[in-house]
Amino acid sequence: MTFRALMLNEQDRTVTAEVQTVDGSELPQGNVTVAVEYSTLNYKDGMILGGIGRLVRTYPHVPGIDFAGVVESSDDSRFAAGDRVVLTGWRVGEAHWGGYAERARVDADWLVRLPDGLSTFDAMALGTAGFTSMLAVKALEDHGIGTGPVLATGAAGGVGSVAVHLLSAAGYAVAASTGRPQTADYLRSLGAGEIIDRAELSEPVQRPLGSERFGGCVDAVGGTTLANVLTQMSYGSSVAACGLAGGNGLDTTVIPFLLRGVNLLGIDSVMCPFAPRQAAWERLNELVDRDLLASMTTTVGLGDLAALGPKILAGEVQGRTVVNVRG
Ligand code: NDP
Repeated sequence: MTFRALMLNEQDRTVTAEVQTVDGSELPQGNVTVAVEYSTLNYKDGMILGGIGRLVRTYPHVPGIDFAGVVESSDDSRFAAGDRVVLTGWRVGEAHWGGYAERARVDADWLVRLPDGLSTFDAMALGTAGFTSMLAVKALEDHGIGTGPVLATGAAGGVGSVAVHLLSAAGYAVAASTGRPQTADYLRSLGAGEIIDRAELSEPVQRPLGSERFGGCVDAVGGTTLANVLTQMSYGSSVAACGLAGGNGLDTTVIPFLLRGVNLLGIDSVMCPFAPRQAAWERLNELVDRDLLASMTTTVGLGDLAALGPKILAGEVQGRTVVNVRG
């Protein structure tokens, strides 16, 4: 068996990407082989495609941190040929060959069976970003949502776009922060009632507390944005910290925690255990409007990815990018 894959190689610390035909014998170890149908482009994929952060240590390497497809063969009793599955996280696409290929071989423990009604395309239109957004919304609900709209930062990006839709579908008033005013209509179509200019949340924090503006926050940006958001949370509210698109520093004070009981919640989609992982996919299946999902999605082929990597790191990609690995 041979299959097409986007193969990364590294020479003199420069990473190059090329679509190649690969022999099945080169697949990594694992007890389930999947005929991959779709993968996606995530922020971390942009880093891996650019060789940034040394996330990949061994080349040649197939990137792609998530995929959905159909089981081709399985040595594990939990899966049989023909089962539709989704995989996100577990360092697949980093420490293990990933989804930018027509075949993947993985550990059965890493796979989730797709709920009935969620296609492999839908699963990847959501992908790691959508799964992360779902974990974030669940975390806010579990820990407390206060008075005021729930804010999504980095709203025009992947995590942000799905978060705006999920929050709205779950019945919350949503505020969306973006640096791209031209995406305002798009964000309103996903359910945002208020659009906030990213610059408003980007200035260095002046005061430890501001007005009680937001009842919750799904934050994909980190840095100064997160520090500003913390000062504007209402009493008993929660912030789900998902990302670092705006920096990994956090210059804040203890005051929002002491005087407003704000909860700062870390979201990790990579090592999330099986039960909450499966529950998140079930809830995504219930909540997501398929037409809105399609409206936030662009589809590309394996050959387009090398050029798109720098764009997602520059914050220039809108919504979700699905990779049709057979296209
Ligand atoms: P995207 O690039 O699609 O979205 C990020 C968005 O952040 C951009 O679209 C932009 O939104 C905003 N942004 C970019 N640069 C800056 C900046 N310098 N200052 C302020 N805002 C900025 O990426 P994803 O949505 O895929 O991922 C977002 C973050 O979440 C990443 O850091 C990623 O690593 C992380 N992540 C974490 C996961 C976890 O398990 N915790 C899982 C998945 C992702 P706008 O134009 O609207 O301002």
